[in-house]
Amino acid sequence: MDWKVQLFKLNFDHLERKAVNDVLDSGWLTMGEKTSRFESEFSQFLGGEVQSIAVSNATAALHMSLLASGVQSGDEVIISGLTFIADANVVKMCGAKVVLADCESLDNWNLSAKTIESKITPRTKAVIIVHFAGYPCDMVPIVNLCRKYNIILIEDTAHAPGASLDGQMCGTFGDISCFSFFSNKNLSVGEGGMVVAKDPSLLQKLKHLRSHGMTTLSYDRHQGRSSSYDVMQPGLNYRMDEIRAAIGLVQLSKLKNGNEKRMILTDIYRERLSKINISMPFASMQSGMHSAYHILPILLPNDCDRGLVIQYMKDKYIQTSIHYPPFWDFHAYRDECRADDCPVISIICPRELTLPLYPTMTEDEVNLVCNTLEEAL
Ligand SMILES: *Cc1c(COP(=O)(O)O)cnc(C)c1O
Repeated sequence: MDWKVQLFKLNFDHLERKAVNDVLDSGWLTMGEKTSRFESEFSQFLGGEVQSIAVSNATAALHMSLLASGVQSGDEVIISGLTFIADANVVKMCGAKVVLADCESLDNWNLSAKTIESKITPRTKAVIIVHFAGYPCDMVPIVNLCRKYNIILIEDTAHAPGASLDGQMCGTFGDISCFSFFSNKNLSVGEGGMVVAKDPSLLQKLKHLRSHGMTTLSYDRHQGRSSSYDVMQPGLNYRMDEIRAAIGLVQLSKLKNGNEKRMILTDIYRERLSKINISMPFASMQSGMHSAYHILPILLPNDCDRGLVIQYMKDKYIQTSIHYPPFWDFHAYRDECRADDCPVISIICPRELTLPLYPTMTEDEVNLVCNTLEEAL
């Protein structure tokens, strides 16, 4: 398609190209100096109290998080009913049961301590929260709730690198946090992710899970630091390569400015869309909350045919998306997940539409999207 306004565009230039070339010239392709620098700079970015482990994608990060938490058959894991399917899939891949919790309200599309607590049972082992669209969940009550019930708290921070709550970064509240660097995320490397934790024994488990449970890696052997290895636990290969880590370092240096651009564009959207008959979630953000403005979700009017709006926008070469189709519409989850589990989300899902948002978008493009949406309605 020859879009006039795409949903998302990469923010890449000669710096990413040079970073890739440098790796190609270096003769070392995986788990080397770029990866460890990316990990330490990412930890610094999060405030320096966590450790980051670069992985192949956020789905791998989520899977490892559940494995490191000991989630297994017979356990329940509470997740949001409004998130990407990866959150449900990794729970199933561990043999555990998916339990959906509802959003707080039609304005706050995040889980809250209240909506989570109503789903806790003696079998609840872990909770995965999502900072939807980059807007932080109200974390302090959620952290306290999980402590009270001895439940492991995992942050799916795929939407929220750089978001914060009273100065504390999203991704540093939970026991483990998972970031995605998929192409269309705020920090893009193609396929990549980061798993983040503080507890040394969790970190050790995560490192083993990433790399076959091995005590030393080929880079250590290359450096002459060791010539053999032991295997401490069964593990996987969920590593990131040096090319992606090098792109990640450049993208990390652009993240703060990129998120600021997203904020400015979101404010223009809010102002312009306040004049038409739609609503935008997270209109009333608590003070101290800083979003990463990952996407621009809106809620169409009750009586509106979303399919027609999407088609109209497409006819005008404007790309839109849906975040997310409900789990209960998917074959694999039809029996396990029901709309009744999430009354608020079942109102949101059929009416949600995502408009284009990316750091290099112009004000004119925002206006074009809004004008076209108004015509469509
Ligand atoms: C993108 C995304 C994921 C998966 O990330 P990958 O890196 O593609 O595996 C998980 N959860 C949410 C909320 C996402 O947006």
